[in-house]
Amino acid sequence: MPTIHEHAQALAERTVALRRDLHQHPEIAFEEVRTMNVVAERLRALGLAPRTGVGKTGVVAVWDSGRPGPTVLARADIDALPVPEEKDVPYRSQREGWMHACGHDGHTAVLLSVAEVVVARGDELRGRVVFLFQPAEEVVRGAEAMLADGALDGLVPDHTVGLHLTSTYPTGVVAVRAGPAMAAADTFRLEVHGRGGHAAKPNETIDPIVVASHLVLALQALVSRETDPVDQAVISITSMHGGTAFNIIPEAAELKGTLRTFDTDTRTRLKQRILEVAAGIAATFGARVSPTWIEGSPAVVNDAAATERLRSVATRIVGADRVIEAAPIMGGDDMALWLQQAPGCYFFVGSRGGEASAWPHHHPRFDLDEAALPIAVEVLANAVVDLLQG
Ligand SMILES: [Zn+2]
Ligand SMILES: [Zn+2]
Repeated sequence: MPTIHEHAQALAERTVALRRDLHQHPEIAFEEVRTMNVVAERLRALGLAPRTGVGKTGVVAVWDSGRPGPTVLARADIDALPVPEEKDVPYRSQREGWMHACGHDGHTAVLLSVAEVVVARGDELRGRVVFLFQPAEEVVRGAEAMLADGALDGLVPDHTVGLHLTSTYPTGVVAVRAGPAMAAADTFRLEVHGRGGHAAKPNETIDPIVVASHLVLALQALVSRETDPVDQAVISITSMHGGTAFNIIPEAAELKGTLRTFDTDTRTRLKQRILEVAAGIAATFGARVSPTWIEGSPAVVNDAAATERLRSVATRIVGADRVIEAAPIMGGDDMALWLQQAPGCYFFVGSRGGEASAWPHHHPRFDLDEAALPIAVEVLANAVVDLLQG
């Protein structure tokens, strides 16, 4: 039996080849049909019996040692983005306008190789591993859809684990963080209803553009003046629309924005305050606001004990000096929902090898340093094996 390190190295070429295949055939949220079939086929080749179409395009495969022991959830997201690829590589996207610009092609290939490592070592392990290939992370709806579709029916998970490759850190670095690691990401729309009229007679109107402008500024004070400076929160108004002509005051104007928080109480309070301030500012000017609140996924919160275990596993593999404390990220990830099923750790694996793989995620030139893939396989496989011990 090879060591996990040797096995991850032996699988490196295939991991890269699969990643490139997925990269050439990106599919966006809930349209990952080919990806789902490729994943299922690989799992079947390992002797597993995957369920496909879970949450529309997700895949669940349970590996069971047949011996009593813990149940570990291992999750990879599989979706791409509606980003037109701008890099010129042999494995360039063949789908115009779509691209794996976040590295989920890598996550999928890595988890399949981890499944291969686990299956090969079956005789020396106990418990079971639930391999989750999740669609639609980029719209934070895939985990919810899989859970609603019974992804975990009949299973009582004990641990959750998963990783995100990242160009934030160089290849060889593993970044972990106990507690809140990624933000809750809610979005909202505020429609300001005024009264339209002639631009030269504003006194006869209720100008929704002016009301919306006051609103944008007032909302900034909720973070800067009402939120504890050591508790992070972001309110961004990202879209402002109203009006059609130089000389018409419109009936309505629309604002869109997002709220990012780590703490549950802060999240509840800021949501309430955004709605109060919107109603209050509108009332001040005789206008009215109809809000739409779209609840995003909760914050990604890593369990302290699980994070310690992951830290020591990663230290064994890449060395203590390359296991670093991850900075909290205001971006959201619906890994949060899997972490609510059982405590665990979502960690980051550096995939920046040089200029070509230094672009930020979601950029049309984003790429992975493929040398990071066997490292990710080794760390994740070791983490799963470690968690199966209890
Ligand atoms: Zn992304
Ligand atoms: Zn991502």
